[in-house]
Amino acid sequence: MTAIDLPRLAARLPPRPLTRYAPSPTGYLHLGHVANAVWVWGVAGALGGRVLLRLEDHDRVRCRSAYEAALLEDLAWLGLAPDLGGPKELRSGASPYRQSDATAHYESVLAALTERATVFACDCSRKDLALAEGDVFNQETRYAGRCRTRGLAPGAGRGLRLLLDPGEERFEDARLGPQAQDPALQCGDLLLRDRLGQWTYQFAVVADDLRHGVDLVIRGEDLLDSTGRQLRLGRLLGRPQPPVFLHHPLIRKPGGEKLSKSSGDTGIRELRSAGASPAGILGLAAQLTGLQARPDPVPARDLAKLFGVG
Ligand code: GLU
Repeated sequence: MTAIDLPRLAARLPPRPLTRYAPSPTGYLHLGHVANAVWVWGVAGALGGRVLLRLEDHDRVRCRSAYEAALLEDLAWLGLAPDLGGPKELRSGASPYRQSDATAHYESVLAALTERATVFACDCSRKDLALAEGDVFNQETRYAGRCRTRGLAPGAGRGLRLLLDPGEERFEDARLGPQAQDPALQCGDLLLRDRLGQWTYQFAVVADDLRHGVDLVIRGEDLLDSTGRQLRLGRLLGRPQPPVFLHHPLIRKPGGEKLSKSSGDTGIRELRSAGASPAGILGLAAQLTGLQARPDPVPARDLAKLFGVG
C-alpha cells in the first residue's frame, strides 16, 4: 500500500530535504502525535531527508514544561531521534527550536513585515467576533475587518492582525493533489499576536519554517485549511519558494471526532504501562492512518519501509 507518489515528491525537493516534527506541549503524547511522527520520520527516511524537532509552545497558557519533558522522554522511548533540535540541545536552556525562546526573533520578523504589509491593532474578543460578524466559513469564524480602519494604537489588551487581500493561494499537496484556498474568505485578516501578547500558531509556524529552512511540512489533515494563509504570510515575509506540504489522515475516535491530548484512552504513557512496545505503538499508528492493513509492529528504524523504501 503506497500512500504517496514518492519519486514525484522527491523531484519537488532538494537533496536531503528537511522536514519537521512540531508538537505543542499542551498535554501528554497520544496516538495522534505518534501517527504524525510515523509519517514525518517515515517520509524523511524514504527521501533520505532529515527531521528537525521543534517545540511549539507559543501558547503560554496551555503549554507546560512538564509536558515538554514527558514528550521528549516518550519520543526517545519510541526510538524517534531528530537530526536537529535533539533533547540534549533542548534541555541545555534557550534553544532556536523552542518557540517560547524566540521572542526577539519574532519581534524582528514582525518589524520587517510591518514595513511591507499592513499590520493593525485589534481589540476584538472572540465573543465580539462571533456576535459582530456571524460569518462562519467552513466552521471557522472569519474576521471581517472591524478594526481595519479604527487606527488603534498597539498596546496591552490589543492583538495585531495582518490585512489579507482577497486572492487564491494554489498549491499541490503531496497526498491530496491540487488545492486552492482564499485566506481572505476563510479567516479574514490574520491574527499574528493575540490580545494577551502571545504569538499565534500561524505567525510562529511560518516564521520558524522560514528561519529553520524547512523544505517539507508533513502534518495532519486538520491543518489543511491553514496552508493558504501560511503560504501568503511566508511570501510576505520574503520566502522565495514555499515548502512542499503533505497532509496525512488523522486517527478518529469511533464516533468520528479527532483525538485530543486530554483523552486518556490513547495516551502513550497509558499504552506503555499496559505493556505496549515502541514498535507495537508505531505499527498501530501506521495502521490507523492507512499505512498498513494490520497493526504489525514497526520499529522506528523501519518506518521508511511503510513508504516502500528499505
Ligand atoms: N504545533 C502544531 C500541533 O501540535 C503542529 C503545527 C504544524 O505542523 O504546522 O498541532
